[in-house]
Amino acid sequence: MSNQSNSSQHEENLNVLTQTQLVIRDALTKLGYGDEMYELLKEPLRVLTVRIPVRMDDGTTKVFTGYRAQHNDAVGPTKGGIRFHPNVTEDEVKALAIWMSLKCGIAQLPYGGGKGGIICDPREMSFRELERLSRGYVRAISQLVGPAKDIPAPDVFTNSQIMAWMMDEYSRIREYDSPGFITGKPIVLGGSLGRDSATARGVTIVIQEASKVKGIDLKDARVVIQGFGNAGGYLAKFMHDAGAKVVGISDAYGGLYDPEGLDIDYLLDRRDSFGTVTKLFKQTISNQELLELECDILVPAAIENQITSKNAHQIKAKIVVEAANGPTTLEATKILTERGILLVPDVLGNAGGVIVSYFEWVQNNEGLYWSEEEVDRRLKEILIKAFHTVNDTAQVRKIDMRLAAYMVGVRRMAEAVQLRGWI
Ligand code: NAD
Repeated sequence: MSNQSNSSQHEENLNVLTQTQLVIRDALTKLGYGDEMYELLKEPLRVLTVRIPVRMDDGTTKVFTGYRAQHNDAVGPTKGGIRFHPNVTEDEVKALAIWMSLKCGIAQLPYGGGKGGIICDPREMSFRELERLSRGYVRAISQLVGPAKDIPAPDVFTNSQIMAWMMDEYSRIREYDSPGFITGKPIVLGGSLGRDSATARGVTIVIQEASKVKGIDLKDARVVIQGFGNAGGYLAKFMHDAGAKVVGISDAYGGLYDPEGLDIDYLLDRRDSFGTVTKLFKQTISNQELLELECDILVPAAIENQITSKNAHQIKAKIVVEAANGPTTLEATKILTERGILLVPDVLGNAGGVIVSYFEWVQNNEGLYWSEEEVDRRLKEILIKAFHTVNDTAQVRKIDMRLAAYMVGVRRMAEAVQLRGWI
């Protein structure tokens, strides 16, 4: 093996945090910042680890481990979701917090990034066990969070019901109603119209702009989507409604392919609450086959590390838009870019979620609520501007979209750090 492929392989084996730090260093260097700024921004300012005892339905007590990371609060309070998943690690939560900072920077929201996670498998827990775990987590982190400090939201395997329990627990601790403590709430408790579908709406806006750049007419374009949950499911619907042909979708158990276009309404109707639908079909393809299908637009909307140096040469799409966080490795990013494929990175591709979360927080603070049209109009305005800022940076600097997005995302935070006199 050559030295170069050795080092590529090494890069690919690094965890998500280390890969993120490599790009942060590159972005800061290109912006003219030195080691001190990198030392500050390469890790969150704070990470709290908590142990949460939960009384299970059978009378036993199980102790869960959770985290809350706050990357940087120079621009404003930190903001980011809470993930419930068996594979949550401290490093993953740290990387996700840094990505949130970048998304807020790209969308010019008055926030830094935060993220939380609990090591658990909600698929094996009852409704009441999940409620006790959610309330226990809020009690454990309550000193660190708040509407002007750190504002959580949903992420993988957490939803508006869990946000409602968490908001209720926080309000009880503070002894006043605190809807602005958390976003992604049910509408009746101060949630924003359009929040549920916001990530997919954002991906759709970004796909429309990327298609213009690549000269692709979205009408009749062939789209493949990996993952059929919140992000992937809504996106399939929006793409279908825009006249595109969704030829492939998948979930954790496999994929479905029809070159004539899948019946998305039927699949959404048959999907379960964990985004599973392929189990109902005999003729399925693997997730690997799905990623390599003939198509114009490919959207990974499931999990991390799906496009790597092993399959990047086989990707046939002209545009790849990351709806999932971290689906493409750095090595694969290089390969796709060299092959002329337009790769829109996660920190831009899925920023619609945090943008509408910000709208929810603004509405909670004002006590004045917007129509869905108003939410969509403002989302579109922010994302179109963000897409072109990142794309122009990539073109002018002759760099890939990921590095360009990191440069745009980290710039405001670095400026705020300097203006506050931290460095
Ligand atoms: P979800 O839990 O609603 O759906 C996940 C989907 O991925 C399901 O269809 C599941 O079956 C599928 N999946 C799980 N493991 C898989 C595997 N190994 N191979 C193929 N498919 C697999 O999750 P979501 O909210 O749609 O989030 C998906 C991704 O988008 C995550 O990376 C998340 O961080 C990111 N994201 C989501 C939002 C949001 O608002 N929902 C916002 C920003 C980023």
